[in-house]
Amino acid sequence: MVDTQTQYRKIKTEVDQAVIGVLESSAFINGKPVHSFAANLSAYLGVKHTIPCANGTDALQIAMMALGFQPGDEIITPSFTYIATTEVIALLRLTPVFVEVDPKTFCIDPLALEQAITPRTKAIVPVHLYGQAAPMEEIMAIAAKHNLYVIEDNAQALGADYTFSDGTKKKTGSIGHIGCTSFYPSKNLGAFGDGGAIFTNDDALADQLKMIANHGQSRRYYHDVVGCNSRLDTIQAAILDIKLTHLDEYVAARRTAADFYDQAFSGNKKIIVPYRASWSHHVFHQYTLVLEGADRDALSQYLAEKQIPSMIYYPVPGHKQKMFEQFGTASQMMPVTDWLTSRVISLPIHTEMDQEQLDYITKHILEFVNHQPQ
Ligand SMILES: *Cc1c(COP(=O)(O)O)cnc(C)c1O
Repeated sequence: MVDTQTQYRKIKTEVDQAVIGVLESSAFINGKPVHSFAANLSAYLGVKHTIPCANGTDALQIAMMALGFQPGDEIITPSFTYIATTEVIALLRLTPVFVEVDPKTFCIDPLALEQAITPRTKAIVPVHLYGQAAPMEEIMAIAAKHNLYVIEDNAQALGADYTFSDGTKKKTGSIGHIGCTSFYPSKNLGAFGDGGAIFTNDDALADQLKMIANHGQSRRYYHDVVGCNSRLDTIQAAILDIKLTHLDEYVAARRTAADFYDQAFSGNKKIIVPYRASWSHHVFHQYTLVLEGADRDALSQYLAEKQIPSMIYYPVPGHKQKMFEQFGTASQMMPVTDWLTSRVISLPIHTEMDQEQLDYITKHILEFVNHQPQ
């Protein structure tokens, strides 16, 4: 699905030097590259504060801890997302409220979102799924009207632009009260291990986030609130600082591959290619098809036989996960989410795809789809 090896080889000299630099400094925790990377990422995103942490799941958890939610408070989130988004809600004894996504964008449906608001609702967690920005302008307006916080799950869309109706642009992750991301190796900005970060423009909130990520202390050994221990280590920060300078190239390479796929599948009635929302500069963390009238699981198996990887993100939606049994959400009506769950398939997409690979993949997909009886 990804080719991090070829990507590494292209920047090997720089990366190796940076890693050796950290080894020689022995500042494995909180070394200079951690601060340099945080500052550079803030500048890239146009956000005031970047708080690095251990992974994207921690970023979401720390964000929710910092906003002072109380047990039983409701957090609205799409059901059609990676489990990390919703798991941390339940972990903190908050109540996940699952809502539908838009069948075209795969992101939270603003109408469904507004209908799900109750007096106990405290926050909305939109997910920029597969690299497409959720409709943030509408979401922020709904949040302002109902006095709710917005925590963006930007784990899949680092580098994406959101265009507001007046033409101004902002990077995803910098629009809500807090933004969260992941540097898991296969993410658009991937470390050589785990990593994550939290973003905010609010100074007081930034202090709170930093304190919580660091055992609830603002001064060493004086612990004001219950926190956790979540750090981005210096080696990962040094690598990420180099890779950040290539992020726009990486995004462009993903988009080129997506353009090729789009063209190859255009006009095929059984394949719905990813929709590109007018407000979103899609960064294609995933290239995900929806199959109509072709057997998704049979295609996945067929591709595996041809040595073509594919993935189902995600085979079980949040509201049906056993983990959330206590919330009784499994019986919730989610026609769009259920429709997507049984029909989506994600194809290999990364920064190193060549024409030969794209030709081979698209040829076999079309062969399968065109030869399968209705
Ligand atoms: C990857 C991911 C996360 C979690 O990131 P980790 O670094 O793996 O903890 C959260 N949300 C979404 C949507 C993701 O894709």
